[in-house]
Amino acid sequence: MSDHPSLTELDGALPFVERHIGLREDDIATMLGRLGFDSLDALMDAAVPGAIRAAESLDLPVPLSEQAASRELRAIAHANRPGEAMIGLGYHGTITPPVIRRNVLEDPSWYTAYTPYQPEISQGRLEALLNFQTVIGDLTGLPTANASLLDEGTAAAEAMTLVRRGNRKASGPFVVDADALPQTIDVVRTRAEAMGIEVVVADLADGLPAAVLESGLCGVLVQYPGTSGRVLDPRPVIEQAHERDALAVVAADLLALTVLEAPGALGADVVVGSSQRFGVPLFYGGPHAGYMAVAAGLERHLPGRLVGVSVDAEGRPAYRLALQTREQHIRRDKATSNICTAQVLLAVVASMYAVYHGPAGLRSIATRTHRYAAVLAAALAEGGITVEHADFFDTLTVPVEGRAADVVTTARSYGLQLRLIDADHVGITTSELTTRSTISSVLKAFSIAGVDLDAVDTATADALPEALRRATPYLTHEVFSTHHSETAMLRYLRKLSARDYALDRGMIPLGSCTMKLNATTEMEPISLPGFADLHPFAPAEDAAGYRQLVNDLEGWLAEVTGYDQVSIQPNAGSQGELAGLLAIRGYHRANGDTHRDVCLIPSSAHGTNAASAVMAGMKVVVVKSGDGGEVDLDDLRAQCEKHADDLAAIMVTYPSTHGAYEDTITELCAIVHDHGGQVYVDGANLNALLGFAKPGEFGGDVSHLNLHKTFCIPHGGGGPGVGPVAVRAHLAPYLPSHAMHPEQDKRAGIGPISAAPYGSAGILPISWAYIRLMGAAGLTRATAAAVLSANYIATRLGEAYPVLYRGHGGLVAHECILDLRGLTKDTGVTVDDVAKRLVDYGFHAPTMSFPVAGTLMVEPTESEDLAEIDRFIEAMIAIRAEIDRVASGEWTPENSPLRGAPHTSRALVGEWDRAYSREVAVFPTGIDPDKYWPPVARIDQAYGDRNLVCACPPLEAFAE
Ligand SMILES: *Cc1c(COP(=O)(O)O)cnc(C)c1O
Repeated sequence: MSDHPSLTELDGALPFVERHIGLREDDIATMLGRLGFDSLDALMDAAVPGAIRAAESLDLPVPLSEQAASRELRAIAHANRPGEAMIGLGYHGTITPPVIRRNVLEDPSWYTAYTPYQPEISQGRLEALLNFQTVIGDLTGLPTANASLLDEGTAAAEAMTLVRRGNRKASGPFVVDADALPQTIDVVRTRAEAMGIEVVVADLADGLPAAVLESGLCGVLVQYPGTSGRVLDPRPVIEQAHERDALAVVAADLLALTVLEAPGALGADVVVGSSQRFGVPLFYGGPHAGYMAVAAGLERHLPGRLVGVSVDAEGRPAYRLALQTREQHIRRDKATSNICTAQVLLAVVASMYAVYHGPAGLRSIATRTHRYAAVLAAALAEGGITVEHADFFDTLTVPVEGRAADVVTTARSYGLQLRLIDADHVGITTSELTTRSTISSVLKAFSIAGVDLDAVDTATADALPEALRRATPYLTHEVFSTHHSETAMLRYLRKLSARDYALDRGMIPLGSCTMKLNATTEMEPISLPGFADLHPFAPAEDAAGYRQLVNDLEGWLAEVTGYDQVSIQPNAGSQGELAGLLAIRGYHRANGDTHRDVCLIPSSAHGTNAASAVMAGMKVVVVKSGDGGEVDLDDLRAQCEKHADDLAAIMVTYPSTHGAYEDTITELCAIVHDHGGQVYVDGANLNALLGFAKPGEFGGDVSHLNLHKTFCIPHGGGGPGVGPVAVRAHLAPYLPSHAMHPEQDKRAGIGPISAAPYGSAGILPISWAYIRLMGAAGLTRATAAAVLSANYIATRLGEAYPVLYRGHGGLVAHECILDLRGLTKDTGVTVDDVAKRLVDYGFHAPTMSFPVAGTLMVEPTESEDLAEIDRFIEAMIAIRAEIDRVASGEWTPENSPLRGAPHTSRALVGEWDRAYSREVAVFPTGIDPDKYWPPVARIDQAYGDRNLVCACPPLEAFAE
């Protein structure tokens, strides 16, 4: 026996798992004691039904230290070779201003925030998103834009369904420009096929095809400028469509719109695209913020979230999400789209790029991008090559008669990535990164020498089409002309983030959302150039690092879920759902079961489930819940028998959205299988299973996971996310494919669900790092800690607020539902009042009224420490005492600190005529120098929906 630690012990001295999990060993003992268990194992044995317990522990590599994981990720990043991307195809080189990179993309006050459903504590990011909507509205020339979509391809697909919905007068195919981005055409086709929409792809140079002119159409999509670089005047096509009562969609490049006329001014009804080239790294395809803007009259059909302006209880303007009742979680199978998590963080980056550069700065970036293209085209002409289109913005199609592969290979040796269109054509796209030396290298790749670039420059006019030069002004609001120095920009970013409550301030106990630690070591690698600067259609040999990262991650996710194959292409949970249902659909069809189209969904399901089922061409049939919250098996049996011939699937969340481990899950799966259906297990609650049970083993055929919940990708204020889809072997042939996939065998198939082959590849290092740092034992321990914390809260709060459902062993899973309905009935105090009062106590509210109206769902996660959990419990108990004072008649609900919440710093000055003191209002637990002050009082939701304002209001609106 030695008296010093062994080398092995030294190597594992500070395992990351102790940083990730908030509870210390003695906290765990205290909490277990409170629950009456003597170990975490004993707790989990009692909580998790034996029938679903995995027999063996996870088979994952041994965990690394933070330093070693960073080193390994740097090596993986180094195996990618970004070069200078001139491939175009909707993804462009851009410069992320360092002040924005460090103070938004890499700043936890922005990236750890949640979706702004509690607007009073989200005013900073709501302002940034309103700026985004203003940028999109101004540049597209349409009045209303949403706060981001998942990418350009899915935005185009959403536009297709919008024109069908928003316009009952026209029917017929959806016509897509043959010069649209190839991945856009494919994403649209995948969606259209499932929904039974006919898609016609046609060259629109001479207008709509004759057959369509005769038969009619529901809508048309024009790419502006086109993939080939051609700038087609969209007006004739738009007029032809309008004459037939159809709507016109234009897919537009935002940078081009600073110099080309706004599609809205040319008659477009809907404009979609990507905001990537506004300062968002290429990220090998994502995450980037897609956008959509619509003409007047269509705003209520917009998918995704929409930020609007309303007023607060003190009469001042305040931002909040508008028209929330359109959202999928309320409309379910009546939903217009399944979008939930979108791309907020990236929309904030793009909006800040516009704020920082302003209209003149953006125009000068566009002008230089264009000039380099124009000079290059003229220089090529001097070398004897005439590019294919005389008018262009940034993209040239260059004919080279059989030499294309040679030219692209030579350019690659100079560090330039050009587009290999076919054996005879090369595509070249300039960007903010292009310089004179880029142009010289390109000419060398074409074996053109001796061109005097300055002489060519002088002799060359712009190549923008005269008829389409931008006349409509844009970004005239003051915010786009006041923050142009770095000091001003830094302070603006700081001012906005200081208004918001994110994980950097305290706990965000949102049930179903798993707001856990997003560790710095996990986050750092996303900014490495090897990950950030790679174009999604770069040659596979330049992306070896990403290939390894994806292979590792897909393999580990298959291991932890018990499935055979995983695709990380879907870029949100909702998209994973759609991909999984399309796999089920593909399987049934391959078996000749084309009639199987009924999807059973329990009444407690997340709204995206039903919306996704409709998008997959299925009919939704709701299955009842029993009194204990479990799926009613008798009703399930009855529905299965009724639909025995046409049953396609059941979508079931496990543990259920009621936060309980149900005993009956294996029986449920068996009943559905016996009736020929497939079982879709919604994996959003995987944080309660990791290491203990595997959906692929206890009956699931397919699941999606939310890497932005269980696997540490931050929520970003409402995105980005990754929603991998995991399947058993029989569904593997129907996983998403992509015509430009770096892996040959994934090119043909059911089509892409996202625009890029690996979806939001750029944030996969985060989840990779989490698994690599935690290892099998760490992940398993995290699950147990999450379950312990939820049960500790349920036990300590159970007396003040009834816990609605308990599962196996009388325990909850990783979250618990507090039932306020009785208190509301007795006192008039609502869940809203409690949620807003929690702000005065320094907390973000739990999930409100999901899955049961009038309740709060609390999910602490494993990352919170005991002191913070206790602080939350004590705040909830103190609020209960306040409710009792309303019950006793001491306060009326209207004149109580509950209804008055949240209280701003204005409570400290001026008149005070409330029934409670100023101290009770703002310092309910005593004077706190670190108090978080909400910038606005309670916001009037209804007012904002009646008076819809979705762009930046004039500054005078904020005057006192
Ligand atoms: C979060 C969630 C989803 C949707 O995932 P997104 O990534 O937001 O699209 C689906 N189901 C459940 C149960 C969820 O909690």
